[in-house]
Amino acid sequence: MSTAESEKYVYYFGDGHAEGNAKMKEVLGGKGAGLAEMTNIGVPVPPGFTISTGVCTYFYEHDKSYPPQLQQAVAENLGKVEASVGRKFGDREKPLLVSVRSGARASMPGMMDTILNLGLNDETVQGLARSSGDERFALDSYRRFIQMYSDVVLEIDREHFEHELFALRDRVGAQTDAQIPAESLRELVATYKNIVREKLGKDFPQDVNEQLWGAIGAVFNSWHNQRAITYRKLNQIPDDWGTAVNVQSMVFGNMGDDCATGVAFTRNPSTGEKKFFGEYLPNAQGEDVVAGIRTPLPISKAQVVGDEKSLEEALPDVYEQLVDVYKKLEAHYRDMQDIEFTIQSRKLYLLQTRTGKRTGFAAVKIACDMVDEELITHTEAVERVEAGQIVQLLAPVFDASEKAKTLKGGRLLGRGLPAGPGAATGRIAFSAERAVAMAKEDAVILVRIETSPEDIAGMHSAAGILTTRGGLTSHAAVVARGMGRPCIVGAGHLKVDYSKGELRSEGHEPLEEGDWLSIDGTTGEIIGGKLATRPSEVIQVLIENSMKTEESETFRNFHRLLQWADEIRTLGIRTNADTPNDARVARLFGAAGIGLCRTEHMFFAEERILRVREMILARNEAGRRKALDELLPFQKSDFEGIFRELAGMPVTVRLLDPPLHEFLPQTEAQISSVAREMNWGFIELRNKVNQLHELNPMLGHRGCRLGITYPEIYEMQVRAIFQAACDVKKDGVDVHPEVMIPLVGTVKELQLTADMTRRVAAEVMKEKGVQIDFLVGTMVEIPRAALIADKLGEIAEFFSFGTNDLTQMTFGYSRDDAGTFLPEYVEKKILPKDPFESIDQEGVGQLVKLGTERGRSTNAKLKVGVCGEHGGDPDSIRFFRTCNLNYVSCSPYRVPVARLAAAQAELAAKAYEG
Ligand code: PEP
Ligand code: MG
Repeated sequence: MSTAESEKYVYYFGDGHAEGNAKMKEVLGGKGAGLAEMTNIGVPVPPGFTISTGVCTYFYEHDKSYPPQLQQAVAENLGKVEASVGRKFGDREKPLLVSVRSGARASMPGMMDTILNLGLNDETVQGLARSSGDERFALDSYRRFIQMYSDVVLEIDREHFEHELFALRDRVGAQTDAQIPAESLRELVATYKNIVREKLGKDFPQDVNEQLWGAIGAVFNSWHNQRAITYRKLNQIPDDWGTAVNVQSMVFGNMGDDCATGVAFTRNPSTGEKKFFGEYLPNAQGEDVVAGIRTPLPISKAQVVGDEKSLEEALPDVYEQLVDVYKKLEAHYRDMQDIEFTIQSRKLYLLQTRTGKRTGFAAVKIACDMVDEELITHTEAVERVEAGQIVQLLAPVFDASEKAKTLKGGRLLGRGLPAGPGAATGRIAFSAERAVAMAKEDAVILVRIETSPEDIAGMHSAAGILTTRGGLTSHAAVVARGMGRPCIVGAGHLKVDYSKGELRSEGHEPLEEGDWLSIDGTTGEIIGGKLATRPSEVIQVLIENSMKTEESETFRNFHRLLQWADEIRTLGIRTNADTPNDARVARLFGAAGIGLCRTEHMFFAEERILRVREMILARNEAGRRKALDELLPFQKSDFEGIFRELAGMPVTVRLLDPPLHEFLPQTEAQISSVAREMNWGFIELRNKVNQLHELNPMLGHRGCRLGITYPEIYEMQVRAIFQAACDVKKDGVDVHPEVMIPLVGTVKELQLTADMTRRVAAEVMKEKGVQIDFLVGTMVEIPRAALIADKLGEIAEFFSFGTNDLTQMTFGYSRDDAGTFLPEYVEKKILPKDPFESIDQEGVGQLVKLGTERGRSTNAKLKVGVCGEHGGDPDSIRFFRTCNLNYVSCSPYRVPVARLAAAQAELAAKAYEG
C-alpha cells in the first residue's frame, strides 16, 4: 500500500472522545487539535471531524484533487456526527447543519475561509423552521449561508448581497438585522438566489454534498489567498504547512434571547492581568463577534462600563458554567487560552481553544504570575515570552504631564477600547495602502472603521491603529497585539468618512489624511495632534532612576524573567558601545562587557574632527604624529570613561576601521569652509580629497590596511588604550582591555599589527609601572580570514565575527546599497530573509562555524564572539549557540532581547542534543 492510501486523513471528535489530541497540531492544525483535546477532557464541544493538513499537501501536489479514500472517510464520519446529534445531513425534517472552517498549525486569525450553516437548501430550511419552531431563525440562517457560501465558494462579491440587505432594512424600517421579519427574509432569500443565478448562470447548489465539497475545496484554496500569504510572510509561517479543515455540527447562538456567542481570554491579552476577560453578543452567530462588525458586550460584571449588560448578569448560570470551563482549560493547558463559545438555549458549547496571542507586556506578566501560581517553572516562563517581544517593555509612553495639558486643552477626541498598550503619534492614513506609502516619510496612525485581514500590510507599517468599530477580540485587536502595535478599537463616538477622507469627533474640527493624531493604547485615549512621549517604566527605574522598583510591577517582572534567563544561558552577552553612557545603559540592561567599541565614532566630536583632518592631510609622518599627539588625550579620556563604567568587565576596543576620506569634507561648500578653518587653499584641499576618493571605499584603504600603511595611527590608539587602563587601574579599577584589529585577511596583517600592539602595550605598562591583563585579537569579517582561521588562531587570543562585513563580502552585496533589491529578493523567495538582519545560516553562518572550529584547532583557549548586527537577532543567536561561540555583542537596547534569546537557544540546543 502506498503512504497516500494508508494514511489516516479524517479524525472524529464528539461525545467525550476524540481520535486526535493537543499534540497533533501538525496533522490536525491548531483548531482541530484543540477541539480534540477539549472533547477528551470533558469540555462540551459539538461533534465533528477534522480533515488533516496532509490532505492539503496532497491537494496541492496532485493538481487540486483529493486522496481516493477521502470521500468514503468523510461520509463515514458525517454518519457518526449524525448519530451523535440525532439529525441527518440533507434531511427534510431534522437536518444536520455544519460549519466548515480552516485551521493551520499556527493561528492565522481571519486569513482563511469559514462557512457556517452549511446543509441548508429550499427543503431543509423548512425542516429547520419546524424542528426549531422558529421560522425567522431558519430563514435568517439560510440567507446568511447563501451570502457566505456565494462569497467564499462561488466568488460572488459580497457587496451585491449587502446592498440588498441594507435596502431591505430601509424598506421595512429595521435598525438591525434582528428586526427584519420572517416574510421579508423569505423575500431576501429569493433575491439572493436570483443574484447567484444572474452572476453564475446557474442556481445556488441545492445538493448538500455538493455544498460540503465546495466548502472543503474553498478552505484548501484559501491557504493560497493573498492575505494568507502576506500573513505567513510577516509571521514566518512556512508555505508548505497547509491547513486542516474542521467540519462540525452547528450550534446556534442566534435562536433567541437565551442564546449568545462570544470570545474570551482566560487572562487579559493586552496587560496580562489575571482576570477572565471577553466579549459576547446576545442572539448572534459566531462570525458577528470575530468580524468586529457589531461592538460586543462584556462578559463579566467587572468589565462593564456604563449601562451595558454583561453575560454574568444576563445568563448567570451559563456564565458560571463558562467560568468552570475556562478554569479547567487554563489549568489543563497551563497557559492563557483564547476561547470561542456559543450558547444555544442556555446550553454552553466551546468551539475553540488556543493559546492566546498576547502583547509583550502580557506575555511577561502572565509568565511571572504563572510561576508564582506554581503553574509553570522558571524555564517554562523563559520559553513563553518571544525574545523580540520584550522590547515592547522598553517602548515609550506618553508623558503624563504633557498628556494632562492636552486633555485640559480640549484635545481629547474620544475614547475607545485599549487593545494594544503603548503610545503612538503619527499622521492619519485612512487606508492600508496609504499607510504603507506614508510610513516611508513619517510615523502613521492607521484609522479605519474596522480593519479586515486585507489591511495587514498597512497595520504592519503603522505606528498605531485606531478603529471605530469592533471589540477587544476583533481581528484588528488580535492582529495588532500580535505585532506589538499600540491599538485602540471600538471608538464609536468618532466617525470615519472614507469618501470625504475625514475623522470626525463632535465639537472638534474634522481631521484629514496627513493630520497628526496620538493614541494611548494603554488607556484608550485618542488625542488630536502630536504628543511627546517619555521613557517606559523599565527605563525610568533602571536607567533614569526616576521611579522606584516597588512602584513598577512591569519592571520587577522584566527583571525576574531576565534573571531566570541568565540562569539558563551559557552564551555571554556583551554590547556594542562607543561612549561611557551607552556602556552604562548596556551594563544596566545586563551586558557583561563590550564586544565592540568603534573608536572612529570618537573622532567625529566637535574639537576632534579638526585634528583628525590635520592628521589625514599632514604632508609627512612628522605632521601626522603631531596631530595624533593632540588626539591622544581625547582618546585616552574616552577609554578611561568606558573602563570606569565597566569596571571588572572585558572591553573590546577596535582600532580605526573606516577609510580616511569619511572624515573629510565632501561638498564644495564644506571643502571651502574646512579650507578656511585649516589654512589650506581651496583647490589644494579639493585635490587632496579627490586623491583620497576611492571607487569602492568599503573594499578599499580601510581597517588594518590603514594601520599598516600609517602605523602611527594604530600606535597612538594602542598607547591611549593602555595609558587609560594603567591610570584607572592605579585608581583601583579592575580593567581588561581587548585590542581588536579590523579587516584582517592575511596572517601577515595580523602578525604586524598584533606585534605592534603588544610592543606598545609593554612600553606603556613599563612607563606607568602597572601590569594590565589584556588580550589581542582580530575581527573575522573577510571570508578569507575565516578560511585561514587556524593560522590566525596561532596569533590571536580572540576572534570576533564582524557579520555585517562578512555578509557583505560573502554575498558580494553592498551593505549600503542592497536595500534597492533585497526586499524584492525576499518577496520572490530568492532569499528567506534579509541576510543583514538575520544570519544566512547556510552560507555566511557556515563561515562562522568553520572559522570558529579552525581557530580553536590551533588555539584551544580562543575566545570567540560575534559583533555584527546579528548579535541582537533571536534567530541568529540560536544559530550562534550551535556554533559554540562564547558571546554575542549587540546594541544596548537589544541586550535584554539577546539575554532571553540566548536562554531559549540554550533550551533548544539541549532539547536537540537530548
Ligand atoms: C561588522 O562588520 O560586522 C562590524 C561589526 O563592523 P562594522 O559594522 O563597524 O563594519
Ligand atoms: Mg566591519
